Amino acid sequence: MIEEVSFDFPDELLDNIQQNIEHIIRTFDVPEENKMEVIKQINFMYSRTKYLSLTDELTELPNRRCFDNDFDKEFSRAQRYSNPLTLVMFDIDHFKKINDTYGHQCGDFVLKQIANSALQTFRKTDTVYRTGGEEFTVILTETDIDQAIIPLERFRKTIETLDLTYNGQEIGVTVSIGACQFNSSIKTKEEFIEKTDSSLYEAKNTGRNKTILNTSL
Ligand code: GH3
Ligand code: MG
Ligand code: MG
Repeated sequence: MIEEVSFDFPDELLDNIQQNIEHIIRTFDVPEENKMEVIKQINFMYSRTKYLSLTDELTELPNRRCFDNDFDKEFSRAQRYSNPLTLVMFDIDHFKKINDTYGHQCGDFVLKQIANSALQTFRKTDTVYRTGGEEFTVILTETDIDQAIIPLERFRKTIETLDLTYNGQEIGVTVSIGACQFNSSIKTKEEFIEKTDSSLYEAKNTGRNKTILNTSL
């Protein structure tokens, strides 16, 4: 049975798959006894391509495309069954300054460390995505805003006190966090994202290194 693909491959990846398939078929000459091997290789490439298309290369976190797919499903579930669902966005504070002061490589190192800390802080059922340059999104399933504040503040403090050393230099880094719980007044995914983003914006505008919860209905 062919699995239904619920996301779009970028054109370059499709081209790449096609070229690889052609290559395999040409190299193998596909005698009957090798057919299974060819199918296995094609399946492997398909899974690998799917993984790559949904993963951020630097941090190995799921990427924006993956977020869009997952969020679509979780939003529908929350709407239909009223399961508690909290959306979180966090953004590294003054990250440009880290790049400017210590170099882009150091910036990459910091991004990876923050991604690892986030993975360790949140539950296995919560997913952390790298949705922008130095911006991350977390989907907290089965979690209302009162339950969300505990891991969010824990995460914020973990980053604040993170022992980060790059080329012998100590790097101090903080994050600003915005969060919003789904409620029935939220009609679209975009509205939900917008409300979460506005909490993050408020965290940035009121001093950074803080968590702002959107509690408006
Ligand atoms: P704010 O506290 O308002 O968020 O300030 P900021 O400096 O973090 O935000 P700004 O949007 O001004 O700068 C974001 C920087 O993130 C600029 C960009 O070069 C850097 N950046 C984005 N992606 C990457 C990446 O993959 N690696 C590195 N090293 N830097 C990145
Ligand atoms: Mg930033
Ligand atoms: Mg940003």
